[in-house]
Amino acid sequence: MNRFLNPFTVDIGIDLGTANTLEYVRGRGIVANEPSIVAINNKTGKLLAIGKEAKKMVGRTPSHIVAIKPLTKGVISDFEVTEEMLRYFFARAGGLSNFRRPRVVIGIPSGVTEVEKRAVEDAARNAGAREVFLIEEPMAAAIGAMLPIQEAEGSMVVDIGGGTTEIAVISLGGIVASRSLRIAGDRLTDDIRDFAQEEFKLLLGERTAEQIKFAVGSAFPLEDRLTTPMRGRDLVTGLPREIEVTDEQIRRAMVKSLAALAQATRDVIEETPPELVADIMARGIVLAGGGALLRGLDQLLAQETMMPVHSGEEPLTMIVRGTGMALEELRKLSEVFVSADTAPMGF
Ligand code: ADP
Ligand code: MG
Repeated sequence: MNRFLNPFTVDIGIDLGTANTLEYVRGRGIVANEPSIVAINNKTGKLLAIGKEAKKMVGRTPSHIVAIKPLTKGVISDFEVTEEMLRYFFARAGGLSNFRRPRVVIGIPSGVTEVEKRAVEDAARNAGAREVFLIEEPMAAAIGAMLPIQEAEGSMVVDIGGGTTEIAVISLGGIVASRSLRIAGDRLTDDIRDFAQEEFKLLLGERTAEQIKFAVGSAFPLEDRLTTPMRGRDLVTGLPREIEVTDEQIRRAMVKSLAALAQATRDVIEETPPELVADIMARGIVLAGGGALLRGLDQLLAQETMMPVHSGEEPLTMIVRGTGMALEELRKLSEVFVSADTAPMGF
């Protein structure tokens, strides 16, 4: 056994995302990657399934079974269900018994309120955590991307998740400038649904619209034209109908949201001290989160900011890897944690 691993404790890193929750266990790596969805029996209050199993049930359940997404726009909207979900992840890591209560690092969006921070801490403690360390998601992303966050050097991350986009410039272990906006992957999916409804009187399911985004979605003109069938319910006849859409149409559908994303990125650069801007120019902006997988988003942001932009490697796991690296170096990285407990007392 690794002499650094204490058998009486288990250390867990969690990326509690609006769309996906990922879990890292110290000494083992990423052990879980599940949609943030829980299926519950409304009559008994019993939890039926979590993650992929629960997602399969969405839209296919009798009325007394509900599928709940306990996080909305990056923050807890259903406290009890979040707690249940965390308990499941802690147990899955072998972290719950009378003698084993995990130490947990959890990513939270930057700029959440003290109340929202405390909600995450309380949910984790109620779920059995012995100690809880909170880390801002862009910071975790930057650590996961191996950026030199502790140096006197500027690093910039844009994390496009499901519910929120987090944009941050980091230097000396702290966030120097940031924006959190509620325009992210799910908004782009909604844009596609709105487009289908307005242009073609076609009603699309959420998963269908997301599939279209994966298939032909792009933020910047592509070299080769892409097309995909779009299937939905015709709002006039009430019957199924299929039409073909192109990357160009889908890009147009998302253009407003993409412009807002680019504008927010520019705003953060404008607030960044010039020395740090020079560092970012040299190193480039790193994209994280599922939205980083959208074709051409790097090109769009590069054009709009005049900076080099790189899609991070495996953007969907970047944050949980960052929480994992923070776990491995709890002491060395102590200044990157934020805590509702140690926050300046405002009363
Ligand atoms: P969160 O941190 O909020 O849980 P994630 O970082 O897991 O979010 O990203 C989820 C978002 O990424 C969803 O909106 C999803 O549609 C989007 N996404 C995932 N893969 C792709 C892809 N290949 N192209 C475009 N968007 C994607
Ligand atoms: Mg995320």
